[in-house]
Amino acid sequence: MSLSKLINTFAHNLIEWVVERLPAIIHRERGDALNFLIALVLMGLALLLRLEIAPVSAGLQYITFFPAITLAAVVGGLWPGIFATMLGLSLATFIFTVPYYSFSFEAIKNAMGSNLVFLMDGVIVCSSIEAMHRYRASYAAELIEARRQEARVVALNKSLDEFTYIAAHDLKEPLRGIHNYASFLKEDYAPRLDQDGQKYIDSIQRLAGRLSTLIDSLMSYSRLGVAEVVREPVDVDNVLDGVAEDLNRLWTTEGIVLHRNGLLGVVIGDADRIGEIFQNLFSNAAKYNDKPSKWIEVGCDHGSVPPVFYVRDNGIGIAPQHHENIFRIFKRLHEQNKFGGGTGAGLTIVKKIVERYGGRIWLESVPGEGTVFYFTLSGDA
Ligand code: ADP
Repeated sequence: MSLSKLINTFAHNLIEWVVERLPAIIHRERGDALNFLIALVLMGLALLLRLEIAPVSAGLQYITFFPAITLAAVVGGLWPGIFATMLGLSLATFIFTVPYYSFSFEAIKNAMGSNLVFLMDGVIVCSSIEAMHRYRASYAAELIEARRQEARVVALNKSLDEFTYIAAHDLKEPLRGIHNYASFLKEDYAPRLDQDGQKYIDSIQRLAGRLSTLIDSLMSYSRLGVAEVVREPVDVDNVLDGVAEDLNRLWTTEGIVLHRNGLLGVVIGDADRIGEIFQNLFSNAAKYNDKPSKWIEVGCDHGSVPPVFYVRDNGIGIAPQHHENIFRIFKRLHEQNKFGGGTGAGLTIVKKIVERYGGRIWLESVPGEGTVFYFTLSGDA
């Protein structure tokens, strides 16, 4: 490394070191008296330094006073800064203007021009620093308010999830009763019912069964919001091994091929929940596919921050107008029994898991050709 580069790096590091520590001295709640005292001490030090480096007749006083004024404004704000400026003006007139060490009319007159410029500079610097202080204070207040609101929304969502869970849970019991009574009716009164009557009972049982599945989905969805968010290192490839093993058993009969494009790596999260994401996306990719040879590709773009996982398929695709609403609970784009059925809750649950880790989920799709779901598991850098 050349000498100039070395000096450059040293200067850069030194400036960074100072800048990093400066915020620690900006502390406005130490009381006015102390702030003015600090301004006084700083100007005293600046004066000593000035007297040390050159004789009185050499001028130069403003150069040494200015850093002290700036620091006084940084530490104490506008008025301690202005106080330091006025002190600087007095010292410049009294000590450094001919006749030296006098407050004569002549000294005041001689110092008038340079003092005016110094006064203007002082006011500009101090008010700019004060403006930054105020901006910082209002920004901090906004931040506190935003955090408060966020905490309120989180608490509200949690109690909504708790309510949904309890309500769904309580709905299951009468539903079980309906289903059971329909069964008794069918078993005990079947001979006395005509064909239509039997069909109606079958429908009651089918609908009760469907409602029960929907309630189960609702309970899974709301349970997610009530549970603690687990954050531990998860080897995503391991998770994928488990999910793929389960699904492969189903897929071999249907001839679905899963391509794993490279390693997915380690993330912070919950292995079970991450497994649930892949499980949902894979089974959708397999379900919504009418091609003779079906394939699914899974991978991760490690170049992005945070890493972006993807699940690609060569299925039926999703029209652009549905890219948002497929994430709504119970939203299905097809008739109840088409493509193997479903509750329409899978993607809603996936989205909720992803968002609980600060991530997001989105998709690209060409109807008739296939879909890619992308997701991240942490907030944007
Ligand atoms: P479900 O599969 O139970 O209907 P989901 O929430 O998982 O519920 O999906 C919602 C809807 O989004 C599905 O009904 C389907 O129409 C559509 N969809 C989801 N994944 C795919 C996919 N990979 N390809 C095409 N359509 C999909």
